[in-house]
Amino acid sequence: MFNEYFYLKELTKLQKKFVNDFNKNSKLQFQKIDNCEICKSKNIKLLFTNDRYGINQKTCFCDDCGFVFSNPRMTEHSTQFFYNSDIYRYIYAGEQNEEILFQNTLKELKNYKPKYPKKPDFEKYYEQLYFDFINNEVSDFESVLDIGCGRGKKIIDFNYIGKTTRGIEPSKTFHKVHTSLGLNCNVGFIKDIKEKYDLVILSHVFEHLTNLHEVVDILSNITKKYLFIEVPGHVTKFASIQNAHNYYFSFNTLNHFILNNKFTLIKSDYIRNNEFILSLYKKTEKKSKYVFDKGLEKKMFKKMSKKYFGVYFTKYVITKFLRIIGLEKIFKKIFNLVKDKYKNLHE
Ligand SMILES: [Zn+2]
Repeated sequence: MFNEYFYLKELTKLQKKFVNDFNKNSKLQFQKIDNCEICKSKNIKLLFTNDRYGINQKTCFCDDCGFVFSNPRMTEHSTQFFYNSDIYRYIYAGEQNEEILFQNTLKELKNYKPKYPKKPDFEKYYEQLYFDFINNEVSDFESVLDIGCGRGKKIIDFNYIGKTTRGIEPSKTFHKVHTSLGLNCNVGFIKDIKEKYDLVILSHVFEHLTNLHEVVDILSNITKKYLFIEVPGHVTKFASIQNAHNYYFSFNTLNHFILNNKFTLIKSDYIRNNEFILSLYKKTEKKSKYVFDKGLEKKMFKKMSKKYFGVYFTKYVITKFLRIIGLEKIFKKIFNLVKDKYKNLHE
């Protein structure tokens, strides 16, 4: 019970079906991680047994350095199948099938209006924050590569300010959208990239990958000037747990992978309301070295655990109790009504 992750999303019937199928899918292969990928320790402990969709995915942490990661996790082959098949999109976005996903995305992008960059504001998440952040820091770049470009909005953003762009994305459905809109994108993964680009972007992608040291080697080969990474991070609280995330980063653990390679840090910051970490790095000729204070990292981890298992455990007990007596939905409705009222008063 203590390891149950209880921030569950409300799922539609169809999403529930996809989650059930996923949990029962015997074709998906998993591999166990014996050593922490940062400090090589075997002192790995269980944090959660499920993710926010109810998928049976275990999340662990390294008790020596505070690194948080999925374990066991899908093998590379299964991961590839998972993304290519769009199961990922069906579960997370609740789309019904390929055609609906295609039509909805196409419509969304046709209505999308890119804007010129302005000063970044880290108080609250907004879609263009990454764009404001990058352009506020650097301007001497021409070619942009977006790895895992998803719907392709970032490609449209950079096209709008006159950059040469390219995207790569495993989803075939999204690729159909890119083609329809004339965006320069290919179906594929990071290993399929052959050319070099001034600015390389990975937005909510790095945490989905594996063998991160190898990945950063590839990134340093294809980056001419700048590397931008955005990940769901943890600074004061745990990031939302989902099966497709192999890693959960802090500033330290993210920098461990990037700064022990041919990169230096230009700037990192985090969005205050959701703790996404945005980091911009500059490519260097030589490898640099970055060692973080494991003691401090563990302290931070302990603080987050306390917060989670303390304050939120109360919520869990109350929710479970209400669920048992069948009043959970009514209480949730009242709670949301009160919350909305409160919000309206303060806006
Ligand atoms: Zn470790």
